[in-house]
Amino acid sequence: IPFDQLDGQIWFNGEFIPWRDAKIHVLTHGLHYASAVFEGERAYGGEIFKLREHTERLIESGRILGFTLPYSAEEIDTACSELLRRQGFSDAYVRPIAWRGSESMGVSAQKNRINVAIAIWQWPSYFNPEERMKGIRLDLAEYRRPDPRTAPSRAKASGLYMICTISKHAAEAKGYADALMLDWRGQVAEATGANVFFVKDGAIHTPTPDCFLDGITRRTVIELARRRGIEVNVRAIMPEELSDFSECFLCGTAAEVTPVAEIGPYRFAPGEISRQLVSDYMAEVTPKRIAAE
Ligand code: PMP
Repeated sequence: IPFDQLDGQIWFNGEFIPWRDAKIHVLTHGLHYASAVFEGERAYGGEIFKLREHTERLIESGRILGFTLPYSAEEIDTACSELLRRQGFSDAYVRPIAWRGSESMGVSAQKNRINVAIAIWQWPSYFNPEERMKGIRLDLAEYRRPDPRTAPSRAKASGLYMICTISKHAAEAKGYADALMLDWRGQVAEATGANVFFVKDGAIHTPTPDCFLDGITRRTVIELARRRGIEVNVRAIMPEELSDFSECFLCGTAAEVTPVAEIGPYRFAPGEISRQLVSDYMAEVTPKRIAAE
């Protein structure tokens, strides 16, 4: 079934409307000029993990693009939770999005309405579940994450995903699951929708998020690793170093913690630390009342 033909409801500018009716005009500023920001969240056992952090990042992404969302964090959180209840899902993916509307056409859009919508659907596994614990295969992307002086790289802005889709399609065409992007300096940055971690001699290494998304999952994984007493080094990583690492994994809301077996010519074996963090992450996202049962 095409995605716009599903049943259920979508929260659209303050109202719950039928999924199929959640449409916008072809002259929407967000479509033409990428004046849109979004979030990706996951619900586990009927609760959205770190909902407030995601909502705050959505509001901050809008602020970076120069607009104020017309709803408070409380209103957005309530809308997400109520929509989850109405959709009837316990485990689901939550996609809030805010964009400039179609009231005027042109680069300047000072008076265009800021629209906000939320959709929730079931998205069990971002990567092929069979490949997942063996480790997925990544290509090296041609496009690089831009210099923060050339793009609002800290915002989860739709425009930045143009290079992600191009890179992911190129990787898929060669049979890879995803692509690893370097940044404008040539340092390791992130995958097209997830952050990257490496393991060497029992310690974790992950790039400094100074020109790509500082993922909420990334921060959670760092905290979980430190709780286990695992050393975490946040630093610049050059691609030449990839041969020194024994394990590699991606993490993100959709990807959760996914081991990586290959990046271009480099090989990794999902090991103890990756497996530990896969299970610690799943325990962390499970609501306490369910874990207690
Ligand atoms: N980088 C990119 C490009 C992403 O799209 C995502 C997913 N939102 C992430 C990293 C991970 O972010 P988070 O853990 O907050 O989902």
